[in-house]
Amino acid sequence: MAKYRGPVCRLCRREGVKLFLKGSRCMTEKCAIERRSYPPGQHGQGRQRVSEYSAQLREKQKLRRIYGLMERQFRGVFGKAERKAGITGDHLLRMLECRLDNVVYRLGFGSSRKEARQLVNHGHLLVNGKKTDVPGYLVKAGDVIEVRQRSRGLVPIQSALEAVDGRGIPGWLELDRAAFKGTVRGLPTKEEIALPVNEQLVVELYSR
Ligand code: SF4
Repeated sequence: MAKYRGPVCRLCRREGVKLFLKGSRCMTEKCAIERRSYPPGQHGQGRQRVSEYSAQLREKQKLRRIYGLMERQFRGVFGKAERKAGITGDHLLRMLECRLDNVVYRLGFGSSRKEARQLVNHGHLLVNGKKTDVPGYLVKAGDVIEVRQRSRGLVPIQSALEAVDGRGIPGWLELDRAAFKGTVRGLPTKEEIALPVNEQLVVELYSR
């Protein structure tokens, strides 16, 4: 599957917010946003024109980049959210947040969503006792996500777990650190997802 291979800090600078794409580095003063908080490129420090379309586009790009999805995948998730009854923006946020790779990151088994996705892809995770290597698997209330016994000594998992206190575990998840196990207490509310994104603008963009 296609993936973005360019410099990720550039993406944060483009969106003007921390997207936390680089794990522990994002918490340090080496963060590119802390040092150069203007958009990248030759005209990055010039005056930016903000049209209605560009505002909608930026919100979509921000959300897509936070979860590390390519346009086609993101559009697919949006399509599913749109077909559900209720508020499309809320469904979109919840569906993105409930992806297995994101849950692995939120529980602290990976230091970034990218690292968490790699752990899932490489088969280091069990969901309800079964090996699951699909990053886009949507967790449900009551699901138990666990690091496989033989993967618990991996350095990236150990160091990610040590750093998780810095960002905290959201209330809709519960972590049993000693057992390398997390439980989905319930589906997240919009307030619990708490991202710096106006999802309504994303809905408006795709409704054009
Ligand atoms: Fe974004 Fe992290 Fe890079 Fe800072 S260090 S610009 S938050 S990816």
